[in-house]
Amino acid sequence: MTVRVRFAPSPTGMFHVGGARSALQNWIYAKQQGGVFVLRIEDTDAARNKPEWTEGILSALDWIGISRGSYEGPHFQSENAGEHRAAAARLYESGRAYYCDCTREDVQARTGSQYQGYDGYHRDRGLGPGPGHALRFRTPDEGATVVVDLIRGEPTFENKLIEDFVIARGDGSPVFLLANVVDDMTMGITHVIRAEEHLPNTPKQQLLWDALGVKPPIWAHVPVVVNEKRQKLSKRRDKVALEAYREEGYLPGAMRNYLMLLGWAPSGDREIVPWSVIEEEFRLEEVNPSPAFFDEKKLRAFNGDYIRALPVAEFVDACQPWLTGTGTIAPPPWQPEEFDADAFAAVAPLAQTRIAVLSEIVPNVDFLFLASPLIDEAAWAKTMKDGSAELLDDAVAAFEALESWDAESLKSTLEVVGTARGLKLGKTQAPVRVAVTGRTVGLPLFESLEVLGRERTLTRMRAARLRLV
Ligand code: GLU
Repeated sequence: MTVRVRFAPSPTGMFHVGGARSALQNWIYAKQQGGVFVLRIEDTDAARNKPEWTEGILSALDWIGISRGSYEGPHFQSENAGEHRAAAARLYESGRAYYCDCTREDVQARTGSQYQGYDGYHRDRGLGPGPGHALRFRTPDEGATVVVDLIRGEPTFENKLIEDFVIARGDGSPVFLLANVVDDMTMGITHVIRAEEHLPNTPKQQLLWDALGVKPPIWAHVPVVVNEKRQKLSKRRDKVALEAYREEGYLPGAMRNYLMLLGWAPSGDREIVPWSVIEEEFRLEEVNPSPAFFDEKKLRAFNGDYIRALPVAEFVDACQPWLTGTGTIAPPPWQPEEFDADAFAAVAPLAQTRIAVLSEIVPNVDFLFLASPLIDEAAWAKTMKDGSAELLDDAVAAFEALESWDAESLKSTLEVVGTARGLKLGKTQAPVRVAVTGRTVGLPLFESLEVLGRERTLTRMRAARLRLV
């Protein structure tokens, strides 16, 4: 039997990090089993679907390493609508489903409770099809439905606790539960690896598989992803869109490594491992069923490690979208013609060890490309205190007299200036840094001044001095 798994997102919003995690788990499982990964876009919720979300899913998967053309699909659920209706008809004809025209209010009036499920009123009343008649599945009165789940063992659901659920609406359209099962059936899916949120659907879906006479798949419900308050990640509250992480400058390698650690870990005391190790060692059966904490701080630290591990040339390439403002990434504050690739290359190794996400490259290097630095006024106020004007005067004079404009000479010269005023190097550097870069933190100062050049450095220091008059 060839293993066939599917990833079945609904194109109703930005692609979620939890979705990316499920996609990767499906992807690796298929690869390990010599199986097939199928992408199915569940696009039958016409009111909420948008074509751009579908495109967003495809490009997000591509970014994370599941590239277009390397899987089966995308198939679209809407293309299978005929099969969904045919399955509903088969269930009706075989007596496994029946029509019902009860409203919610009718059921409430009969059961006396708004919490009670459907009471089976139409089970044996022989209502035929018609406008407003929903089709309900006749769940068995006895027995239990045992779900075989690679992560959760064998969750067992008493059939008598499962209401006769709707499989097609009053307008004849099949609901998600049924369409999803029929698609998995027609696509020959053998393993359904999906989020825990769907577990309550699973006994109902398995009953549908049984009723349609096909052996159900093996299930694996991967743990819900939660924030630091143990709340399920939500798009209203948390940063969940994979796209947002891409725009911020997370590397796809770091992201997918981190996502695979949600509920699982490779052997040894390691977390950052090559993708090939994850592909080899990951075991779906080892995934911890408890909720998985999505720790953004940890992800950030991971990303910093991944950035530092890049060869410098690759780091320079990876920064390009932020240096130029490509696609949905905001343009930098300088004009394209102000950018100087050589100057960037000179400071890139210094920046590489200091940033955790690629977007942070911009505030670190903008002083090199802007005609005058963007002054952070709070940093200015904090730094330019009594004595700063005189210090800048001395530093300008000393720098003007320098024969060689290099980091080492700049450093020893400023040290002398500071010592004469009884200041440590850190205190001496601060006003110079703010004058030249506009900020209190950034790349190592003297290397920055060397790359910026004598003229521009001195012009900025003089301008700052004038502001202090
Ligand atoms: N379309 C469903 C979702 O996005 C997935 C259903 C499934 O994986 O079975 O939540």
